[in-house]
Amino acid sequence: MADTQTQAADLIIIGAGPAGLTAAQYGARANLKTLIIEQLAPGGQALLIGELENYPGYFRRGEGAPSGFDFAQDLQKQAEQFGASFVYDTVSSLKKEGDSFILGMAGGKLLSAPAVILATGSKPRLLEVPGEKEFFGRGVSYCATCDGPFFKGKKMFVIGGGDAACDEALYLSRLASKVVLVHRRDRFRAQSSIAEQVLKNPAVDVRFNTILLEIRGKESKQVNSVILRGASGGDSYEEETDAVFIFAGTIPQTGLLRVNELSGLAFDESGYVITDQNMATGLPGLFAAGDIRAGTFRQVVTACGDGASAAHNAARYIDELKGSAY
Ligand code: NAP
Repeated sequence: MADTQTQAADLIIIGAGPAGLTAAQYGARANLKTLIIEQLAPGGQALLIGELENYPGYFRRGEGAPSGFDFAQDLQKQAEQFGASFVYDTVSSLKKEGDSFILGMAGGKLLSAPAVILATGSKPRLLEVPGEKEFFGRGVSYCATCDGPFFKGKKMFVIGGGDAACDEALYLSRLASKVVLVHRRDRFRAQSSIAEQVLKNPAVDVRFNTILLEIRGKESKQVNSVILRGASGGDSYEEETDAVFIFAGTIPQTGLLRVNELSGLAFDESGYVITDQNMATGLPGLFAAGDIRAGTFRQVVTACGDGASAAHNAARYIDELKGSAY
């Protein structure tokens, strides 16, 4: 059981991206004492979105699409208005004692609740090529909206063939003197609507069947070239550039679960958390929502849907524990 020094809640949400923020709103609106824990700033991967043009009903006619940052701020305000409380800290331990989860914060605080929603999302996958780590923040980036404006009027490379690479290549084409989009295969993985816009854009030079081997810089200070090669072999060649934006997919942030060896959890082959259709994991009271969850479409709208569903089912689970389920 939790002691008196432990802050008790009904529902604790770990991670304040779109899934977590929506879960917080739904949890608080269902009269659950809801805490949401975030280690950085609310918004998660949505903060990287320059123009959120595909969230239903959020497109302001005549004003263009709002940014992911604006969207995250609106979600946060909405969750707070319904009574959710934010805790800015890092969860360092998570265990289950009886019917309660006990969460240890890096700041020393202990929190407890009968239900927890994991909404820690995912982070960019590294290419692991020479120069990638060395030039991170000096021409190598995983966020076009954060870093694109630093390279206005310059040549930029984008690596990857999914929705993120294509979306961000389109965004960067408005800033760059030229965008070169390098993809290792002969066609895009991205949704055809986005891929077609890239292929039609005269400011984007698409190089299929091409592999990035290395990122080089001038006196180790700033990116100034990349080494490329055809995917089926052949000679490598060097090409000048000022920036390299990498969108090689994402990996789930499940470190907390692995370290704490929680029983009953299952992961898919890529490491994402497996849930049932109610967002429940194999450990009673533990739910997962958004990008951390296996088999999801990974859109802002689906993350929000996951969050709503997870909070609703967490509320039902708590009612069942109390014996007050309808
Ligand atoms: P993704 O769909 O997994 O695509 C990753 C891309 O990176 C793939 O084209 C992959 O190549 C390439 N790649 C992976 N490892 C590589 C390596 N070592 N070297 C070279 N290329 C490599 O990831 P994502 O584009 O980040 O999207 C993640 C999720 O978010 C998806 O579910 C996506 O639909 C969603 N998303 C949606 C939108 C939108 O709707 N507007 C925007 C962004 C993201 P292969 O194709 O050869 O595997």
